[in-house]
Amino acid sequence: MGRGISGLTAAWDGLGVVCRYDKPTGTWIFICLHNDKLGPPTGGTRMKVYPDLDEALLDGMRLAEGMTYKWAGIGIPGGGGKAVLALEKPLEGEVRTGLLHRYGELVESLKGSFRTGEDLGITTDDMKTVAERTRHVQGFRDGEKVNPSPFTAQGVYSGIRAAMGVVLGDDSPAGRSVLVQGVGNVGAGLAKLLADAGARVLINDLDEQRAAALASELGGEAVANGDLYGTECDVYAPCAVGATLNRDTIPRLKCKIVGGSANNQLAEETDSARLRERGIVYAPDYIINAGGALSFALLEQGVTDGDEILRRMETVGQTVGEILTEAERENETPVAAARRRVERILRG
Ligand code: NAD
Repeated sequence: MGRGISGLTAAWDGLGVVCRYDKPTGTWIFICLHNDKLGPPTGGTRMKVYPDLDEALLDGMRLAEGMTYKWAGIGIPGGGGKAVLALEKPLEGEVRTGLLHRYGELVESLKGSFRTGEDLGITTDDMKTVAERTRHVQGFRDGEKVNPSPFTAQGVYSGIRAAMGVVLGDDSPAGRSVLVQGVGNVGAGLAKLLADAGARVLINDLDEQRAAALASELGGEAVANGDLYGTECDVYAPCAVGATLNRDTIPRLKCKIVGGSANNQLAEETDSARLRERGIVYAPDYIINAGGALSFALLEQGVTDGDEILRRMETVGQTVGEILTEAERENETPVAAARRRVERILRG
C-alpha cells in the first residue's frame, strides 16, 4: 500500500473508505463515503491506472466530496460517494469482467449504503456487468442501462446558456464562440448542441483526428493541443480531464466564461480567485456537470420519458444562473457562492 494512505484517510473529513485488494488483477478498490446527511453516498465508479495509490485514493476522496456538493447543490436527496478501481494496467475481456463482478459483489455487500454508476474509464456496458452482481447500480430503465452522457451534455449546455445570460446579457449561443476541450461522450454531444444553436464551435481533443472529424461534421474548427489555452473564445468548456484551470493556464485564457463537464477543473481552490481577477466567470464544475446524476435521480423517482428528462436538465441552468447572480451580488467567486448554497442545504 502507498506510504500515505493511512494518513490520507485519517485526515479526511468523510465517513470512511472501504478498501479491497483484488488479487487476481492487482487492482486496488477504494469506495470513498463522504457524507450521508441527505441520503446514501452515491457516485460514479472510476477505473484508471494511477501513478501511485495515494493519487488514486486522493482522487476518490476529492470526487466523493464533490458528489456531496453536487447532490446538495442541485437539490437531490443523495449523499457524497465515489469509487476508484486503481488498475495496474488496462484490462480487457474476461479479466475485466471478473474484476467488475467482484467489484459488484463488494458493492452489494454494503447493502445499499453506496450506490454507483459510470465515470471515467467505465462504460455503460461495464456498469451492466457490475449490475449482474449488485442491485445498487443506478440508471436502469425497463431493465436497460441508460447512458448518462447525453443528459450531462444537455445540462452543461443549459448551464453555459445561463452563464451567457448573466455575463453577456443574452443566453443565445448563436454567433458565440465556444471552445470544447475533449470531445468524448459528453464533449461531442455538447459541441453538437452548440453547433445546432448556431454557435461557432472550436474543437480540441488529445486525439487530434477525433477533433478534426467532429469539427468537419459540425462546420467548426479544430484547435491543436499546443494552441488551446491561448485561443480566443466567449466560452471555454473543459470536457476532458481535471485541473486544466491552474496558475499556468489561467493567465493565458482568452475567454469570458468557463463552463464544462470535467470534474475537479480547478487545480487548487485559489484558482477560482485567479479566474475572477482575470474577469473570467467560472461555472462551478460540480453544478454544471450534474445532468447525468440528475437524470439517474429522476429515473429513480419514476420519470422515465427521455424527452422529459432532457427538459428537466434546465434545472442545471437555473442553478448555475442563481449561483452566478448571487456571486455577482455578493462580490465573491462563484465557488464561494456555490459553497454557501450547499452549506445552507446541508445545515437544513
Ligand atoms: P470520455 O472518456 O468519453 O471523453 C474524454 C475525451 O477527452 C476523449 O475524447 C479524450 O481523448 C479527451 N482527452 C483526454 N485528455 C485530454 C486532454 N488533456 N486534452 C484534450 N482532450 C483530452 O469522457 P466523458 O464521459 O465525455 O467525460 C468527460 C469529463 O466529464 C470527465 O472529466 C468526466 O469525469 C466528466 N463527467 C462526465 C459525466 C458523464 O455523464 N459522462 C458526468 C459528469 C462529469
